[in-house]
Amino acid sequence: MSFKELNLVEPIQKALKTEGYSQPTPIQSKAIPPLLMGRDLLGCAQTGTGKTAAFAIPILQGIHAEKQSSKEKRQIRALVVAPTRELAIQISESFRSYGKNLGLRTLVIYGGVGQSPQTKSLGQGVDILVATPGRLLDLINQGFVSLKNIKYFVLDEADMMLDMGMLKDVRKIIGFIPKVRQTMFFSATMPNEIGELAKSILNDPVRIDITPVSSTVDIIEQRVYPVDKVNKTNLLIHILKDKGIESALVFSRTKHGANKIVASLSKAGLAAEAIHGNKSQTARQLALGNFKKRKTRILIATDIAARGIDIDELSHVINYDLPEVPETYVHRIGRTGRAGLGGKAISFCDYGEKPLLRSIQKLTSRTIEEVKDHPYPLVDTTIKPKEKSIRRPSASRSSASKEDKQKGKEAKNGKVRREKRTSDSKKANSNSSKKRKNLHWSKG
Ligand code: AMP
Repeated sequence: MSFKELNLVEPIQKALKTEGYSQPTPIQSKAIPPLLMGRDLLGCAQTGTGKTAAFAIPILQGIHAEKQSSKEKRQIRALVVAPTRELAIQISESFRSYGKNLGLRTLVIYGGVGQSPQTKSLGQGVDILVATPGRLLDLINQGFVSLKNIKYFVLDEADMMLDMGMLKDVRKIIGFIPKVRQTMFFSATMPNEIGELAKSILNDPVRIDITPVSSTVDIIEQRVYPVDKVNKTNLLIHILKDKGIESALVFSRTKHGANKIVASLSKAGLAAEAIHGNKSQTARQLALGNFKKRKTRILIATDIAARGIDIDELSHVINYDLPEVPETYVHRIGRTGRAGLGGKAISFCDYGEKPLLRSIQKLTSRTIEEVKDHPYPLVDTTIKPKEKSIRRPSASRSSASKEDKQKGKEAKNGKVRREKRTSDSKKANSNSSKKRKNLHWSKG
């Protein structure tokens, strides 16, 4: 199917061409026709599937058609609510790109920054508003935002909003939106509470399920590097010294860990920046902007800060720590291999993390090739790996939703693994590091 067959207006087709999109992704082919007909949508899909364009294009086309037939002043016609500031910004950028030939105005609002530039822009008139729940509710209560003309409402990453304790605010926001509207509801998973919310706000929706798991995983070259925990930083430095790695997003399980990695890399002469929940919004945006513009080659992130972040042509994802939830692995490596482009995913695995690796391999139905020929091979197998119960996403999300909680748990788990590293193993590692210098796979 082509974008032409989807009956898109010329200015949108032109914009998509400029973006380099030649044909719709599966979610776009499935979602755009019913959305153009005004149907509600329940989408079970993650970022990386092209879901932003799937809802943004029909909304833009709808507002464009209405605008041509009326000379009214700009009013907010579409509202997109997203859980994180990064995601909200990204969505607003997509609306601007796809709608660049339409003369519509998109504004993004989020907390953690001063409100006056946002209220000033609101005063100038807005067609499409993208917002995080807290700041939106704040500005509604202060009278800066009116939702009474909303015709299109999108709730994105609803399960993450549940995790982040945002549902109460979301319900209040929904109370301000007219009942007659088109609603698009997206969630990567459907825990009960989210299913109930969807049922209560959608009207006879079309349901679309897109699981990117196998397709994403198939086009990404994955390798696992067995390594002792004490040597993970050394191995990371060794890998990142390879200039063949154009850009690397490194996942750390904790905020503290992310900061430590940045400091160690910097000592080794490798510039890196971190994004996580303890950084100010400005610092996070700056770090992300630098990474996207290729000013920094290395970005260290925690899962929550990185969720939903879209970086074009990211060459490498590195799992410094393996995630506790196997699905998170798929989300992480899906940052590379975007829209059909290949990418590489490197995972470090210490002895205690072997059960996590097994769960990932089970989920993705593949054995990830091991790279043992590196300077810091795993030698310390003195710690018996404990078969842990791997938390399922729905259960884990509610408990591990806040980074702090997660950090506490993981610190506990890590404690077991940290104990009793033998000095022999350290010696053995340093000897082997002198002997081996090659890292064939990561080159090129
Ligand atoms: P999303 O799932 O909306 O975060 O989109 C994931 C990535 O796919 C983004 O980088 C989009 O720019 C890109 N993308 C979306 N639709 C298409 C398409 N039809 N062709 C190529 N790339 C696309």
